[in-house]
Amino acid sequence: MVNQTIQIFARVKPSLRKHQQGIYSIDEDEKLAASLEIILPRDLADGFVNNKRESYRFKFQRIFDQDANQETIFASIAKPVAESVLAGYNGTIFAYGQTGSGKTFTITGGAERYSDRGIIPRTLSYIFEQLQKDSSKVYTTHISYLEIYNECGYDLLDPRHEASSLEDLPKVTVLEDPDQNIHLKNLSLHQATTEEEALNLLFLGDTNRMIAETPMNQASTRSHCIFTIHLSSKEPGSATVRHAKLHLVDLAGSERVAKTGVGGQLLTEAKYINLSLHYLEQVIIALSEKHRSHIPYRNSMMTSVLRDSLGGNCMTTMIATLSLEKRNIDESISTCRFAQRVALIKNQAVLNEEIDPRLMIIRLQKEIQELKDELAIVTGELRTEALTEAEIHQLEKLITSFLEDQDPESRLEVGTDMRKIHHCFHHLKKLLNDKKTPEKSIVPFETKNQDCQEPFKEEEYEKLRDLLKQRDNEINILVNMLKKEKKKVQDALQLSDMNRGELRHSRSSLFPPRASAEGQRTSLSSAPTQSQDFSTLEYRSSLLHKKTGMREEMSLGRQEAFETFKRDHADSITISDNKQILKQRFSEAKALGESINEARRKIGHLKEELTQRHIQQVALGISEHTAAPTASDPREEKLRSQLEEEKTRYKAMFTRLKALKVEIEHLQLLMDRAKVKLQKEFEVWWAEEATQLQVDSPVASSLDHVKPYPHTSESKHEQPHLPSAASRCGAWEVQDQGTGRFSGRRTLASPVPSLHSRKSRSTSTPVEGSDPQRPMSSIPLTGDSQTDSDILAFIKARQSILQRKGLGSN
Ligand code: ADP
Ligand code: MG
Repeated sequence: MVNQTIQIFARVKPSLRKHQQGIYSIDEDEKLAASLEIILPRDLADGFVNNKRESYRFKFQRIFDQDANQETIFASIAKPVAESVLAGYNGTIFAYGQTGSGKTFTITGGAERYSDRGIIPRTLSYIFEQLQKDSSKVYTTHISYLEIYNECGYDLLDPRHEASSLEDLPKVTVLEDPDQNIHLKNLSLHQATTEEEALNLLFLGDTNRMIAETPMNQASTRSHCIFTIHLSSKEPGSATVRHAKLHLVDLAGSERVAKTGVGGQLLTEAKYINLSLHYLEQVIIALSEKHRSHIPYRNSMMTSVLRDSLGGNCMTTMIATLSLEKRNIDESISTCRFAQRVALIKNQAVLNEEIDPRLMIIRLQKEIQELKDELAIVTGELRTEALTEAEIHQLEKLITSFLEDQDPESRLEVGTDMRKIHHCFHHLKKLLNDKKTPEKSIVPFETKNQDCQEPFKEEEYEKLRDLLKQRDNEINILVNMLKKEKKKVQDALQLSDMNRGELRHSRSSLFPPRASAEGQRTSLSSAPTQSQDFSTLEYRSSLLHKKTGMREEMSLGRQEAFETFKRDHADSITISDNKQILKQRFSEAKALGESINEARRKIGHLKEELTQRHIQQVALGISEHTAAPTASDPREEKLRSQLEEEKTRYKAMFTRLKALKVEIEHLQLLMDRAKVKLQKEFEVWWAEEATQLQVDSPVASSLDHVKPYPHTSESKHEQPHLPSAASRCGAWEVQDQGTGRFSGRRTLASPVPSLHSRKSRSTSTPVEGSDPQRPMSSIPLTGDSQTDSDILAFIKARQSILQRKGLGSN
């Protein structure tokens, strides 16, 4: 058991204004803890925060100033926690602070650079690296990812749902058993056997998290996200299983409602967040006070879920994220105050060991059988009836083959029946005695020979014996060669497998998934593991396509609008930067792959040469009737050292390639996410334009049943269509979604408006719909309100783009 108070750390976010000095100072000199002093600027000192105090001092385990990088944060804060999780203790790391102070950056990481990876990906990488090193135990890893928004839990890892809002995700509820243990109903647990699989799960969750967010529910600032790594371990042959959980928690923004100052629905939501953080604070106050028997965990879902992490069986660490700018002084002080209270909480972490009944039964059954056998021998609980003819025959056959077997390791297995054991001894004795009599022999073949031939002369016998010895020698040499050949083939196969596994290029991925790992760790029988394969980039990209209805599903018009939108968007710089880096990494990986192949070829040649040399020597030995030369061979030694060198080089390159692989995957992940974000923002903008248009346009307002821009999935196939050149002749063409070719489909193909729509049409003049200067009223409409509003939206969008472009160039 480990008694420990919650560890508190502070991290100061880099300030935009570099020269904002004098607001805080960090004192690392003190012996036990670092302290952070927040100094109130003069103009604020008389204000709301204080009663004329000018500075506040807070103690932390350690304070990370603006220049601390992600690796330092991981190594100092997360690594020790991950280590105790590997040892079998529960662990929690949570980030607390106002919105924008760097919680998500610290826990998950930045969305742009590989070096900005946060605690979650680094911890996953570290844990899987350690698991690989430790072969003394069998480990099983599962991942879950929960988001709590407005007191409702959502499973972020549900692959069956195509979430477009949070409500689409499965709802998770808290259940409490009679022993007051918390269970989360509907939260899926996914097995991850490699770092890659775990990262894909993180990516899936983060994508869902992002997609589910709308301007109306800024879920990321208003919700809590809990990424959990469930680790179980067991020694081979043992029935004791250790379970440990590591929660990595990104809490909602800690800012107060008063400061947000928003109205309506947003206010209700803001209050909700603060409510759940308020309950967290209550739990923490209760825990830090002595003699409090009731701790109000049940008040909110988040405190229920984190119950063990607060005042329970867990090693817990808090990171207070601070954005120490003048306008954030009051929030920063309250974050630090919260941390000081948290630091008072004592936890008691214990090893979570339990006995797996299944394994126990198997072990006990084996033990019982062994004991029974032993007992039968010891007590001489004999069966007295004589052995049957058949049994005797069987035994003697066994003895014969045992005696004939050349393998010195071979055993005579007759079980524990004493009658059989005795019979074996009798029989062997008889054979031994028979052999002593020269006329008889145990080997029937020789007996037959002797029957029909004169006995050999001593001289001849010697000669034959020598010959036999020589033949034996030859056979041994050949067998050895054969073994080596076989091993070589196996090595080559393994290498080429490895090579294929690591280097096979495919269109979307440099590294395809390994065939489901043999020796895969056994899954927890109780864990509701999904069989979905998360290990491929293909999976990821198909997910993105599903989630966003990517560009091939867009009509030409929308594509054009999207291209322009993209060009103007700040994120596209990040995307193209990352693309550049990715290209470099790809070519580095390719070059490495070639060098690895080269090294492998060299290793093959060297091995071949060594074998040839051996064969020559053996052949020489045979022809000269001498034993294989024992003196050292300088040529062979040189070959060997070359071989070792090549192998070391090969290993080093292989390790580098592996690291590259992780980096490439991560970069692709970041890019994918940036693309989804861009797409999402485009959709929002497009929808806004469409709605705006309906308000502005007299034509559109006459279409009284026009809906705002559609987001439903079935309407995706009926997105706005770009009027092509043919539209000048009054014909609308649509692009076939499947083939990309133009085809005249649906009512759109007809230049003649359908009957029912004639009344609502304001004009019948066929004109260029794409002319932004053209008044709205002169646009040809199809009468299909949906399509019409799409067309209008498109035109409006183009106008807006042109305007934006005009502004941009000024
Ligand atoms: P929160 O999750 O607390 O609302 P974020 O993690 O989203 O805050 O951070 C807000 C912005 O500040 C993000 O753009 C993020 O990349 C940036 N940021 C936060 N912390 C750091 C840091 N230590 N270094 C560089 N950028 C940071
Ligand atoms: Mg955040």
